[in-house]
Amino acid sequence: QAKAGGRNAVRFFDPEMQAVASANAALAADLRQAWRENQLRIEYQPQVDAGGRMVGVEALLRWEHPTRGTVQPADFIPTAEETSLIIPIGHWVLEAACAQLAAWAERPDRRHLCISVNVSVRQFRHPEFVSEVTAAVRKAGVPPGRLKMELTESLLADGLDVTVAKMRNLKDMGVGLSVDDFGIGYSSLSYLKRLPLDELKIDREFVKDILTDSNDAAIATTIIGLGRSLGLEVIAEGVETEEQRDFLASRGCHRFQGFLYCRPLRLAQLEAFIDASSAAVAGEAPRSGAAV
Ligand code: C2E
Ligand code: MG
Ligand code: MG
Ligand code: MG
Repeated sequence: QAKAGGRNAVRFFDPEMQAVASANAALAADLRQAWRENQLRIEYQPQVDAGGRMVGVEALLRWEHPTRGTVQPADFIPTAEETSLIIPIGHWVLEAACAQLAAWAERPDRRHLCISVNVSVRQFRHPEFVSEVTAAVRKAGVPPGRLKMELTESLLADGLDVTVAKMRNLKDMGVGLSVDDFGIGYSSLSYLKRLPLDELKIDREFVKDILTDSNDAAIATTIIGLGRSLGLEVIAEGVETEEQRDFLASRGCHRFQGFLYCRPLRLAQLEAFIDASSAAVAGEAPRSGAAV
């Protein structure tokens, strides 16, 4: 134990810190291998509008680890960011999303769907980011408006001018821009008027206890009102119950994503989910003529 105030109190070899450092190094090596060996895959979670119709999906990374099973992004995205592996990985997610949009563009019952992609700060700050997005969209030949980038408020912590310029470039291209986890980060709201945004995404943190915690209810209500008065779409994440959805909808929330509708799914399951939900919507529509 370091003695407080002692001149030689700083330990250069702290076993606990050493353990953390080598665990991090091992994870980084493991992730590098995962990336080389295609152990990463993407799941898609549906997003629906107030009428319950599916409007898009969010792409979410998973790591299929050979011994640990499925590793969730919270356990490897930070390492991907620290090692810069997030740059090639993020680019791969982007290209996969564009390819998926291209496949859906061929199908009348899917061509309206959008895909939201999470973009980490490190990735956004990369000098080639905007040109890579442009190239990916062109290569896939998809309408840029079908692609949405989920950015976090941490982007705004510094270099606001560069951030604004890059966002304008993306916006000019037609790509949608969303602020993910809105409300838990940067506290100044003044940036909202400077950024060319399309969407605010309410963090699950405020949705979770929305029915029992009056502060969360007030915050969510305020975010919805703020988004609406700025002309933005508002989507809530982590919607698990009808009651949460009804509360959010009654305050004017446009879109919803959460286990109430669907968990993140592998592509094959997602395709089945889309088929089932379009069949349900078709079933609701008033029929004319004889039944088939
Ligand atoms: P996020 O962007 O805020 O994604 C929403 C998270 O909430 C996802 O966790 C999703 O599975 C989870 N979720 C959705 N609905 C519900 C619900 O009703 N209840 C509960 N309890 N959870 C719900 P996931 O997939 O573990 O992703 C965690 C975070 O990892 C994401 O948060 C995002 O920040 C990051 N992430 C995921 N994929 C990528 C990626 O491709 N690139 C980058 N940079 N980050 C990613
Ligand atoms: Mg997200
Ligand atoms: Mg989010
Ligand atoms: Mg979140």
